[in-house]
Amino acid sequence: MSEQEAWYGLPKEVKFCKVCNITNQRPNSVNEYEHVRDSKKKTIYFNEEGVCGACLNKERQHAAIDWKQREEELWELCDRYRRNDGRYDCIVPGSGGKDSVYASWLLKYKFKMHPLTVTWSPHLYTDVGWRNFQSWVHKGGFDNYLFTPNGKAHRLLTRLAVQNLLHPFQPFILGQKTFVTRMCVRFDIPLAFYGEMPGEYGTTDGLTKADEKKFSGHAGSGFSLDMLGDVDIMDLKLGGLPIKEIIEKHGAELNDFCAYLPMQGKMVREKNIDIYFLGYFVKWDPQECYYFSVDKIGFEANPVRTEGTYSKYNSLDDRIDGYFYYTSWIKFGMGRAMQDSSQEVRNKKITTEEGKALIKKFDGEFPTRYYKEFLEYIGMTDAEFRAKCDEFRSPHLWAKVNGEWKLRHTPSGDGVDD
Ligand SMILES: [Zn+2]
Repeated sequence: MSEQEAWYGLPKEVKFCKVCNITNQRPNSVNEYEHVRDSKKKTIYFNEEGVCGACLNKERQHAAIDWKQREEELWELCDRYRRNDGRYDCIVPGSGGKDSVYASWLLKYKFKMHPLTVTWSPHLYTDVGWRNFQSWVHKGGFDNYLFTPNGKAHRLLTRLAVQNLLHPFQPFILGQKTFVTRMCVRFDIPLAFYGEMPGEYGTTDGLTKADEKKFSGHAGSGFSLDMLGDVDIMDLKLGGLPIKEIIEKHGAELNDFCAYLPMQGKMVREKNIDIYFLGYFVKWDPQECYYFSVDKIGFEANPVRTEGTYSKYNSLDDRIDGYFYYTSWIKFGMGRAMQDSSQEVRNKKITTEEGKALIKKFDGEFPTRYYKEFLEYIGMTDAEFRAKCDEFRSPHLWAKVNGEWKLRHTPSGDGVDD
């Protein structure tokens, strides 16, 4: 075990899943409204044999789930909510990526629902992302509501989230989560579907329970204000700072941030909103979603390999995406190739050893393609951003060797301390 200090409440001993290679440093979701630099993070479950919760779930799925019966359940659910009077009956959030294409298509054309698709805009759409979004609406045949948050406020929050948390996607994630509930309330649609289940990534005890088919609005989801307890909205944190402080320092007003704030619980309850994971009812395989989307709407993969990984079709619509994965590599030693390949190992597309090789080759590759735009977006110089990254390297993960930062541990066992 490393003698070095572990920050952010991360496990001191670094382990990689025996099956999929994911690191035990991967955090579970945190309550972002309380998230400050030194917040202790809960990390994913590993059993005593060193297998992660996501793999255990997958195993169980392969072994025990009766997908025919799950599909029946989905039919029953849809029958209960289906509206044939010209109104929408469910909401499907997404950006026009492969997962949202698959989810909306399935609901509309197989389960005969009438979805309204809703989109919380990426920070900066990529060209291919924008084309896929357009194809989703035009070729897929879906109504869509595209919401773009106040660009000045979003930039400010993104900058603060980098400065205080090294988490450039925090405002995006918060906004996107509250957005779905907001749209349900606004359009009087009591049902929404996310795609993949979070259990895919390993819950705290490693097992997905039946009631987790429903998005329960756990704290931090931004579902509603009263789930956060007795708090003053001005004390909630965005980008790691209390809202009242952001307002004082940056001459903003509360209204600038309304798109990021949780809704009042009363409104949510009155509307009886239910949000489900489609991945509970139907088998969710990202690669299959990709082929499906190519077939149905002419979905385009990236013409070039996505930096930091080997894949060409995972989350490619936002120019800032690469920095989400890069910063997670800095904070948790978990890069984009690790995230992509661990999923493919679980879905039996590649082997554990192939996953290791991909991680070794691509993890931590610096995303240069949109770097200039990213720096402009967050208002930092190259030197400032690099220094910020170095500030967040936990000593138990990183060592400086001949002036260069190296991971102490890797799945291939070639880290400095391995
Ligand atoms: Zn695993």
